[in-house]
Amino acid sequence: MSISKVTKTSDRRLLKPTDVVMQRTIKTSINCSGVALHSGSKVSLTLLPAEADTGIVFRRTDIAGKGAEIKALWHNVVDTRMSTTLGNGEGVTVGTVEHLMAALSGCGVDNLVIELNGPEVPIMDGSSQPFVFLVDCVGVVEQNSPRRVIRILKTVSTNDGAAMISPGSHLSLDIEIDFDNDMVSKQSLSIGVVNGSFAKELARARTFGFLHQVEALRAAGLVKGGSLDNAVVVSGDKVINEEGLRYEDEFVRHKVLDAIGDLYLSGAQIIGNFKGICSGHATNNALLHALFEDSDSWEYGELSGADALSAIDGDIFPDLAETA
Ligand SMILES: [Zn+2]
Repeated sequence: MSISKVTKTSDRRLLKPTDVVMQRTIKTSINCSGVALHSGSKVSLTLLPAEADTGIVFRRTDIAGKGAEIKALWHNVVDTRMSTTLGNGEGVTVGTVEHLMAALSGCGVDNLVIELNGPEVPIMDGSSQPFVFLVDCVGVVEQNSPRRVIRILKTVSTNDGAAMISPGSHLSLDIEIDFDNDMVSKQSLSIGVVNGSFAKELARARTFGFLHQVEALRAAGLVKGGSLDNAVVVSGDKVINEEGLRYEDEFVRHKVLDAIGDLYLSGAQIIGNFKGICSGHATNNALLHALFEDSDSWEYGELSGADALSAIDGDIFPDLAETA
Protein backbone atom coordinates (compact mmCIF):
# COMPACT_ATOMS: atom_id res chain seq x y z
CA MET A 1 0.00 0.00 0.00
CA SER A 2 1.29 3.48 -0.80
CA ILE A 3 1.06 5.76 2.17
CA SER A 4 2.59 9.22 2.22
CA LYS A 5 1.80 10.66 5.62
CA VAL A 6 -0.56 10.43 8.54
CA THR A 7 -3.23 13.11 8.56
CA LYS A 8 -5.68 13.79 11.34
CA THR A 9 -8.91 15.71 10.83
CA SER A 10 -7.49 18.64 12.78
CA ASP A 11 -4.61 18.92 10.29
CA ARG A 12 -6.99 20.00 7.54
CA ARG A 13 -6.42 23.64 8.44
CA LEU A 14 -2.78 23.17 7.43
CA LEU A 15 -3.81 22.47 3.83
CA LYS A 16 -2.50 25.05 1.38
CA PRO A 17 -4.96 26.31 -1.27
CA THR A 18 -2.83 24.71 -3.98
CA ASP A 19 -2.72 21.29 -2.27
CA VAL A 20 -4.82 18.52 -3.77
CA VAL A 21 -6.85 16.52 -1.27
CA MET A 22 -5.63 12.92 -1.35
CA GLN A 23 -7.51 9.65 -0.83
CA ARG A 24 -7.53 8.11 2.63
CA THR A 25 -7.81 4.74 4.23
CA ILE A 26 -7.45 3.63 7.86
CA LYS A 27 -4.03 3.07 9.39
CA THR A 28 -4.56 -0.50 10.60
CA SER A 29 -7.47 -2.93 10.85
CA ILE A 30 -9.93 -2.85 13.73
CA ASN A 31 -12.76 -5.13 14.80
CA CYS A 32 -15.99 -4.92 16.75
CA SER A 33 -19.05 -7.08 17.19
CA GLY A 34 -22.70 -6.36 17.76
CA VAL A 35 -26.26 -7.43 17.13
CA ALA A 36 -27.90 -7.36 13.68
CA LEU A 37 -31.06 -5.23 13.89
CA HIS A 38 -33.29 -7.37 11.69
CA SER A 39 -32.02 -10.95 12.17
CA GLY A 40 -31.11 -10.47 15.83
CA SER A 41 -27.92 -12.55 15.40
CA LYS A 42 -24.46 -11.55 16.62
CA VAL A 43 -22.14 -10.23 13.89
CA SER A 44 -18.40 -9.60 13.88
CA LEU A 45 -17.22 -6.65 11.77
CA THR A 46 -13.63 -5.84 10.80
CA LEU A 47 -12.50 -2.68 8.99
CA LEU A 48 -9.33 -3.23 6.93
CA PRO A 49 -7.13 -0.70 5.09
CA ALA A 50 -7.46 -0.85 1.29
CA GLU A 51 -5.37 0.31 -1.67
CA ALA A 52 -6.08 3.65 -3.36
CA ASP A 53 -9.02 3.53 -5.83
CA THR A 54 -10.54 0.45 -4.12
CA GLY A 55 -13.54 2.36 -2.81
CA ILE A 56 -15.63 0.78 -0.06
CA VAL A 57 -16.05 -2.99 -0.39
CA PHE A 58 -18.04 -5.37 1.82
CA ARG A 59 -16.73 -8.93 2.19
CA ARG A 60 -18.90 -11.72 3.64
CA THR A 61 -16.41 -14.02 5.37
CA ASP A 62 -19.11 -16.61 6.08
CA ILE A 63 -19.51 -17.31 2.35
CA ALA A 64 -16.77 -19.02 0.39
CA GLY A 65 -15.90 -18.29 -3.24
CA LYS A 66 -15.98 -15.21 -5.41
CA GLY A 67 -19.57 -14.29 -4.54
CA ALA A 68 -18.53 -12.96 -1.17
CA GLU A 69 -17.54 -9.37 -2.10
CA ILE A 70 -19.99 -6.55 -2.80
CA LYS A 71 -18.94 -3.02 -3.75
CA ALA A 72 -20.73 -0.31 -1.82
CA LEU A 73 -22.30 1.24 -4.92
CA TRP A 74 -25.78 2.60 -5.73
CA HIS A 75 -26.50 0.05 -8.48
CA ASN A 76 -25.87 -2.81 -6.03
CA VAL A 77 -28.75 -1.67 -3.77
CA VAL A 78 -31.36 -4.47 -3.77
CA ASP A 79 -33.69 -3.43 -0.93
CA THR A 80 -34.57 -0.08 0.66
CA ARG A 81 -37.36 -1.12 3.03
CA MET A 82 -36.43 -0.08 6.60
CA SER A 83 -32.71 0.09 5.71
CA THR A 84 -30.38 -0.05 2.71
CA THR A 85 -29.32 -3.55 1.57
CA LEU A 86 -26.61 -4.29 -0.99
CA GLY A 87 -26.54 -7.46 -3.11
CA ASN A 88 -24.28 -9.02 -5.72
CA GLY A 89 -26.99 -10.52 -7.95
CA GLU A 90 -26.14 -14.03 -6.79
CA GLY A 91 -28.17 -13.91 -3.61
CA VAL A 92 -25.40 -12.60 -1.35
CA THR A 93 -26.52 -9.50 0.53
CA VAL A 94 -25.32 -7.10 3.21
CA GLY A 95 -28.03 -5.18 5.02
CA THR A 96 -28.19 -1.98 7.11
CA VAL A 97 -25.09 -0.44 5.52
CA GLU A 98 -26.18 3.21 5.81
CA HIS A 99 -24.93 4.15 9.30
CA LEU A 100 -21.47 2.72 8.59
CA MET A 101 -21.38 4.36 5.14
CA ALA A 102 -22.35 7.68 6.74
CA ALA A 103 -19.48 7.38 9.22
CA LEU A 104 -17.00 6.66 6.41
CA SER A 105 -18.26 9.63 4.40
CA GLY A 106 -18.17 11.88 7.47
CA CYS A 107 -14.65 10.73 8.41
CA GLY A 108 -13.38 11.11 4.82
CA VAL A 109 -12.44 7.43 4.36
CA ASP A 110 -12.22 6.68 0.62
CA ASN A 111 -10.91 3.12 0.60
CA LEU A 112 -11.83 0.30 2.95
CA VAL A 113 -12.66 -3.40 3.05
CA ILE A 114 -15.38 -4.28 5.55
CA GLU A 115 -15.47 -7.93 6.60
CA LEU A 116 -18.65 -9.33 8.12
CA ASN A 117 -19.50 -12.88 9.17
CA GLY A 118 -23.22 -12.41 8.54
CA PRO A 119 -25.70 -10.69 6.23
CA GLU A 120 -26.12 -7.45 8.19
CA VAL A 121 -23.91 -4.69 9.60
CA PRO A 122 -24.35 -4.69 13.40
CA ILE A 123 -26.71 -1.94 14.53
CA MET A 124 -24.48 -0.99 17.53
CA ASP A 125 -26.29 1.89 19.31
CA GLY A 126 -28.43 2.80 16.27
CA SER A 127 -26.18 5.71 15.25
CA SER A 128 -22.87 6.21 13.39
CA GLN A 129 -20.91 7.09 16.51
CA PRO A 130 -19.48 3.57 17.18
CA PHE A 131 -18.12 3.48 13.60
CA VAL A 132 -16.62 6.98 13.90
CA PHE A 133 -15.02 5.73 17.13
CA LEU A 134 -13.44 2.76 15.30
CA VAL A 135 -11.97 5.05 12.60
CA ASP A 136 -10.74 7.49 15.27
CA CYS A 137 -9.12 4.64 17.24
CA VAL A 138 -6.86 3.57 14.37
CA GLY A 139 -6.58 6.92 12.56
CA VAL A 140 -6.47 7.62 8.83
CA VAL A 141 -3.57 7.79 6.37
CA GLU A 142 -3.28 9.70 3.13
CA GLN A 143 -2.60 7.68 -0.02
CA ASN A 144 -0.73 8.62 -3.19
CA SER A 145 -3.79 9.33 -5.34
CA PRO A 146 -6.01 12.41 -5.40
CA ARG A 147 -9.51 12.02 -3.97
CA ARG A 148 -12.05 11.76 -6.79
CA VAL A 149 -15.26 13.66 -6.03
CA ILE A 150 -18.56 13.94 -7.87
CA ARG A 151 -19.42 17.56 -8.67
CA ILE A 152 -23.08 18.25 -9.33
CA LEU A 153 -23.49 20.40 -12.46
CA LYS A 154 -27.26 20.86 -12.54
CA THR A 155 -30.29 20.09 -10.39
CA VAL A 156 -31.61 16.54 -10.55
CA SER A 157 -34.73 15.37 -8.69
CA THR A 158 -36.63 12.16 -8.12
CA ASN A 159 -39.93 11.75 -10.02
CA ASP A 160 -41.94 12.36 -6.84
CA GLY A 161 -39.94 15.51 -6.02
CA ALA A 162 -39.08 14.20 -2.53
CA ALA A 163 -35.32 14.48 -3.10
CA MET A 164 -33.12 16.66 -5.26
CA ILE A 165 -29.47 17.53 -5.61
CA SER A 166 -28.07 20.84 -6.90
CA PRO A 167 -24.62 22.35 -7.50
CA GLY A 168 -22.75 23.59 -4.42
CA SER A 169 -19.23 24.22 -3.07
CA HIS A 170 -19.31 21.25 -0.66
CA LEU A 171 -21.74 18.54 0.47
CA SER A 172 -24.65 20.07 2.31
CA LEU A 173 -28.02 18.64 3.23
CA ASP A 174 -31.37 20.23 3.90
CA ILE A 175 -33.99 17.78 5.15
CA GLU A 176 -37.55 18.15 6.40
CA ILE A 177 -39.54 15.44 8.13
CA ASP A 178 -43.24 15.52 8.97
CA PHE A 179 -44.61 12.68 11.09
CA ASP A 180 -48.17 12.40 12.36
CA ASN A 181 -46.86 12.18 15.92
CA ASP A 182 -46.65 14.87 18.61
CA MET A 183 -43.11 13.90 19.66
CA VAL A 184 -41.47 13.70 16.23
CA SER A 185 -43.83 15.98 14.23
CA LYS A 186 -42.19 18.48 11.86
CA GLN A 187 -38.44 19.05 12.03
CA SER A 188 -35.97 20.47 9.53
CA LEU A 189 -32.21 20.81 9.42
CA SER A 190 -29.65 22.36 7.05
CA ILE A 191 -26.05 21.35 7.53
CA GLY A 192 -22.79 21.33 5.60
CA VAL A 193 -20.70 18.17 5.97
CA VAL A 194 -17.30 19.82 6.35
CA ASN A 195 -14.68 20.40 9.02
CA GLY A 196 -15.76 17.63 11.34
CA SER A 197 -19.42 18.65 11.50
CA PHE A 198 -20.50 15.04 10.92
CA ALA A 199 -18.83 13.80 14.11
CA LYS A 200 -19.98 16.82 16.14
CA GLU A 201 -23.54 17.32 14.94
CA LEU A 202 -24.83 14.12 13.35
CA ALA A 203 -22.92 10.95 14.25
CA ARG A 204 -24.72 10.36 17.58
CA ALA A 205 -28.26 10.64 16.18
CA ARG A 206 -29.98 7.25 16.56
CA THR A 207 -32.51 5.48 14.41
CA PHE A 208 -36.04 5.67 15.74
CA GLY A 209 -39.32 3.83 15.61
CA PHE A 210 -42.83 3.86 17.04
CA LEU A 211 -43.87 1.37 19.72
CA HIS A 212 -47.13 0.49 17.93
CA GLN A 213 -45.18 -0.57 14.82
CA VAL A 214 -42.76 -2.87 16.62
CA GLU A 215 -45.14 -5.87 16.83
CA ALA A 216 -46.05 -5.64 13.14
CA LEU A 217 -42.35 -5.47 12.20
CA ARG A 218 -41.53 -8.46 14.42
CA ALA A 219 -44.38 -10.43 12.81
CA ALA A 220 -42.79 -9.63 9.42
CA GLY A 221 -39.50 -11.12 10.69
CA LEU A 222 -37.85 -7.70 11.11
CA VAL A 223 -36.21 -5.83 14.00
CA LYS A 224 -35.59 -9.04 16.00
CA GLY A 225 -32.43 -7.41 17.38
CA GLY A 226 -34.13 -4.08 18.05
CA SER A 227 -34.14 -2.76 21.62
CA LEU A 228 -33.93 0.45 23.60
CA ASP A 229 -30.13 0.01 23.38
CA ASN A 230 -30.13 0.61 19.62
CA ALA A 231 -33.13 2.79 18.77
CA VAL A 232 -35.14 5.69 20.07
CA VAL A 233 -38.65 4.34 20.63
CA VAL A 234 -41.57 6.75 20.61
CA SER A 235 -44.93 6.02 22.18
CA GLY A 236 -47.55 8.73 21.77
CA ASP A 237 -45.90 12.02 22.71
CA LYS A 238 -43.08 10.40 24.72
CA VAL A 239 -39.67 8.87 24.15
CA ILE A 240 -39.64 5.68 26.23
CA ASN A 241 -35.83 5.38 26.42
CA GLU A 242 -34.86 6.35 29.97
CA GLU A 243 -31.96 8.52 28.84
CA GLY A 244 -34.18 10.58 26.51
CA LEU A 245 -32.86 12.20 23.35
CA ARG A 246 -29.23 12.95 22.47
CA TYR A 247 -30.18 16.05 20.47
CA GLU A 248 -33.47 17.96 20.73
CA ASP A 249 -34.00 17.30 17.01
CA GLU A 250 -32.40 13.84 16.98
CA PHE A 251 -35.05 12.48 14.56
CA VAL A 252 -34.24 14.81 11.66
CA ARG A 253 -30.52 14.56 12.40
CA HIS A 254 -30.78 10.80 11.96
CA LYS A 255 -32.54 11.28 8.61
CA VAL A 256 -29.62 13.52 7.53
CA LEU A 257 -27.18 10.82 8.69
CA ASP A 258 -29.10 8.18 6.69
CA ALA A 259 -29.01 10.38 3.56
CA ILE A 260 -25.23 10.91 3.90
CA GLY A 261 -24.74 7.13 4.11
CA ASP A 262 -27.04 6.45 1.15
CA LEU A 263 -25.42 9.20 -0.97
CA TYR A 264 -21.95 7.78 -0.31
CA LEU A 265 -23.08 4.78 -2.36
CA SER A 266 -22.40 7.08 -5.34
CA GLY A 267 -18.84 5.77 -4.92
CA ALA A 268 -17.33 9.17 -4.09
CA GLN A 269 -17.88 12.26 -1.97
CA ILE A 270 -20.62 14.33 -3.60
CA ILE A 271 -20.01 18.07 -3.91
CA GLY A 272 -23.52 19.53 -4.03
CA ASN A 273 -26.62 20.44 -2.04
CA PHE A 274 -29.09 17.66 -1.20
CA LYS A 275 -32.68 18.55 -0.36
CA GLY A 276 -35.11 15.97 0.99
CA ILE A 277 -38.74 16.30 1.99
CA CYS A 278 -39.86 13.24 3.97
CA SER A 279 -37.22 11.36 1.99
CA GLY A 280 -35.96 7.89 2.89
CA HIS A 281 -33.68 5.11 1.69
CA ALA A 282 -35.81 4.42 -1.43
CA THR A 283 -35.84 8.11 -2.44
CA ASN A 284 -32.12 8.51 -1.77
CA ASN A 285 -31.33 5.56 -4.05
CA ALA A 286 -33.81 6.76 -6.70
CA LEU A 287 -31.97 10.09 -6.71
CA LEU A 288 -28.64 8.40 -7.43
CA HIS A 289 -30.28 6.45 -10.28
CA ALA A 290 -31.65 9.74 -11.71
CA LEU A 291 -28.26 11.43 -11.32
CA PHE A 292 -26.27 8.71 -13.08
CA GLU A 293 -28.86 8.38 -15.86
CA ASP A 294 -28.11 11.99 -16.86
CA SER A 295 -24.41 12.28 -17.67
CA ASP A 296 -24.72 16.09 -18.09
CA SER A 297 -25.70 16.49 -14.44
CA TRP A 298 -22.37 15.60 -12.82
CA GLU A 299 -18.65 15.17 -13.43
CA TYR A 300 -15.70 13.65 -11.61
CA GLY A 301 -13.25 16.16 -10.18
CA GLU A 302 -10.49 16.57 -7.65
CA LEU A 303 -10.71 18.57 -4.46
CA SER A 304 -8.13 21.28 -3.86
CA GLY A 305 -7.05 22.79 -0.57
CA ALA A 306 -8.82 25.96 -1.71
CA ASP A 307 -12.14 24.06 -1.91
CA ALA A 308 -11.58 22.56 1.52
CA LEU A 309 -10.60 25.91 3.05
CA SER A 310 -13.57 27.76 1.56
CA ALA A 311 -15.88 25.13 3.08
CA ILE A 312 -14.21 25.06 6.49
CA ASP A 313 -16.43 27.57 8.26
CA GLY A 314 -19.62 26.52 6.51
CA ASP A 315 -20.28 23.55 8.74
CA ILE A 316 -23.27 24.83 10.66
CA PHE A 317 -25.79 27.03 8.94
CA PRO A 318 -27.35 29.89 10.95
CA ASP A 319 -30.75 28.23 11.49
CA LEU A 320 -29.03 25.26 13.14
CA ALA A 321 -26.74 27.40 15.29
CA GLU A 322 -29.81 29.06 16.79
CA THR A 323 -31.51 25.82 17.74
CA ALA A 324 -28.48 23.73 18.75
ZN1 LIG B 1 -30.88 5.06 9.89
